[in-house]
Amino acid sequence: MSAVPALAPADPAATAPAWQGALGELGDAFFSRVQPQALQSPYWIDQNLAHARELGLDEHWMQSQEALLGLTGCAVLPGTDPLASVYSGHQFGHWAGQLGDGRALLLGRLPTPQGPVEIQLKGAGRTPYSRMGDGRAVLRSSIREYLCSQAMHGLGIPTTQALCLTGSPSPVLREEVETAAVVTRTAPSFLRFGHFEHFSHSGQHDLLRRLADHVIERFYPDCAGAPEPYAQLLQAVVDRTARLMAQWQAVGFCHGVMNTDNMSILGLTLDYGPFQFLDGFDPEHICNHSDTGGRYAYNRQPSVAHWNLFCLGQALMPLIGDKELALAALETYKGVFEAAMLGHYRAKLGLIDAPQPGDGALVDDLMPLLAKDRVDHTIFWRRLCDFAHQPEPVRDLFIARSAFDAWAQVYRQRCQGLDTAQQRQQMRRCNPRYVLRNHLGEQVIQAAKAGDFAPLRDLMRVLRNPFEDHPGQEALADFAPAWASSIEISCSS
Ligand code: AMP
Ligand code: MG
Repeated sequence: MSAVPALAPADPAATAPAWQGALGELGDAFFSRVQPQALQSPYWIDQNLAHARELGLDEHWMQSQEALLGLTGCAVLPGTDPLASVYSGHQFGHWAGQLGDGRALLLGRLPTPQGPVEIQLKGAGRTPYSRMGDGRAVLRSSIREYLCSQAMHGLGIPTTQALCLTGSPSPVLREEVETAAVVTRTAPSFLRFGHFEHFSHSGQHDLLRRLADHVIERFYPDCAGAPEPYAQLLQAVVDRTARLMAQWQAVGFCHGVMNTDNMSILGLTLDYGPFQFLDGFDPEHICNHSDTGGRYAYNRQPSVAHWNLFCLGQALMPLIGDKELALAALETYKGVFEAAMLGHYRAKLGLIDAPQPGDGALVDDLMPLLAKDRVDHTIFWRRLCDFAHQPEPVRDLFIARSAFDAWAQVYRQRCQGLDTAQQRQQMRRCNPRYVLRNHLGEQVIQAAKAGDFAPLRDLMRVLRNPFEDHPGQEALADFAPAWASSIEISCSS
């Protein structure tokens, strides 16, 4: 790897981003200043220009050599002060001690009408927190993160976003030799539960307070005026996390590595590794090949998030003081999650009128039928949008037809009197036609490895609007092929 080169003079037509510092206000204990390590011959793979516009980035600048080098970590962009933050965390249920940004570099913040957004490079080299890692990310996993950030955002699920994806022929050793890539990702903040755990477990309670005050001031200003601001902060994070879990479950998203260091303090989906959208509905599905115990199985995600919130609550105890206050905040999780979940299912079923007592049972009776026949989760819900006029395509998804018919009779009765056109329209806004199935990612990765990025760009376009039909892209909405079940995604990335 070569040293970071000096930047060529900027394109005179391009306006450089107005970088602001990030995390500097917290003080040196929170991060290390890090120079990126250059990769050989960087090249563009894709740019998310819609997001670039939201960030106020100049299109000329996005096309510049400065952007390519700077966003691949081959040069330090003028005005940025790259740093890696320190955090700790619980991994697979065990305290893992200090972790930190082992391969992420925070460049700074950009002002936007929605508030400052932080820009981070993933895979731009080693940091003091890399431990045994090389600080790199391979093309395959970077493509998955890039696509999935878009997929989740398109689905309306809170997530970090991705601005662009660059690659390099520099070799990276995993199970085999692969090539490097860098995802430029963005979020109002990348702070994790693990940041709080770090300063709490190491007994640095002044710094813990500084961190909590910073998060309250920037993201949870309502907590500042509460009688117990830190318990209120916990409560607010419980609320956002419960709602996020309901959104994941409703769309069939499995994260795969719900360690506390991968849990966003803002309730964003964060750190895309061995994630998967369900194909056939299997509540016990484990998407992470390394998760042999199934700790992060699909149906365990809501309770694992609650467990993770307990870790956050524990970390905040030096500030909250009274255990009962913390427990009271944590206890609200179940109610918020269940109400949100029922709300999603009611919307997915097209129950556009006021809730009725039997609505929960309608859902509870349906899910075992989907599970038993491993009915394709996305296709079932999408076909159900047309059930009033075309019931057969839904019925055809089941092996146990009579069990489905019995459920459908109750469902039809429940829908009586509802405006079917309005119902269909509403259902099509919450039951996506397209999700980032594993095999779609895999196909894009294979093409990209052969130097063809067109399939990646096509998929990005579709995932941006997953609730619309995209004529000509029907294959992307189809059932997973048989080979999809043999794709093994592990933590290796
Ligand atoms: P993850 O399982 O990807 O969330 O990562 C857990 C921890 O390992 C974090 O501290 C990461 O920064 C670090 N890490 C993962 N992969 C690498 C790598 N290739 N080089 C350095 N650190 C890494
Ligand atoms: Mg992580």
